[in-house]
Amino acid sequence: MNLNLDSDVLGYKSLSQKARVLTEGWAANNLYCPACPSNHVVREPNNREAVDFVCPDCHAPFQLKASRNSIGRKITDAAYETMKRAVLSDRSPNLLIMHYGIDALKIFDVLVVPKHFLSLSAVEPRKPLALTARRAGWIGCNIVLDNVPPDGRIDLVKNSVVCPSADVRAKFRLSRGLSNIETSKRGWVLDLLTALRSLNKIEFTLGEAYGLENTLSALHPKNRHVREKIRQQLQVLRDLGYLTFLGGGDYRLKSL
Ligand SMILES: [Zn+2]
Repeated sequence: MNLNLDSDVLGYKSLSQKARVLTEGWAANNLYCPACPSNHVVREPNNREAVDFVCPDCHAPFQLKASRNSIGRKITDAAYETMKRAVLSDRSPNLLIMHYGIDALKIFDVLVVPKHFLSLSAVEPRKPLALTARRAGWIGCNIVLDNVPPDGRIDLVKNSVVCPSADVRAKFRLSRGLSNIETSKRGWVLDLLTALRSLNKIEFTLGEAYGLENTLSALHPKNRHVREKIRQQLQVLRDLGYLTFLGGGDYRLKSL
């Protein structure tokens, strides 16, 4: 993987147009598929909504979100209703999030969020566009990366260093188990995993997991049996391979 952007882009007056050509060109020439052994992804030929690239072998869809700013807590995305529908119907693309430098012509960071890691907790509606705007009333969304478990933020390039593709693919493969859980139930699994990771420790107790009750209640205000739900979701996370039961109410998370 070459981290240089191709400087040979002439004839584009607008910076945003040039940036798009540069970053999409880089992805087409350098990205491999994190979902299978394919060494390429190709531009989506059918102009599908919210999909920029697909893998020619496994057909995994990818959306590229490139920015000159470092990767922050929130990523601006498409229309809220479109994204919400895509998440609930399990048709959201895998997100490729890129930080690049237009002066340096370099890629600094790239991470992939496998689509199964996107739940409604991670999709936030933005303020409707002002009445004076061309698309007045239109509601876009942000992807809130803080609400995606760190397990689902997989680095391909970090601080200008390319991460081993075998690690990337192993992490991506692990996420596949989530696809067997209905989208309406997946939010709970992901929110618990995010909350457990926020404890910043690999081993934790059931008491510590119960201590996350308020955080989880805030995300699922209609559920009145949060502790029961926590116990149930710990089993789901164990079955998915994200944690092990050590016995006696002790648990160990898979290291990142
Ligand atoms: Zn593939």
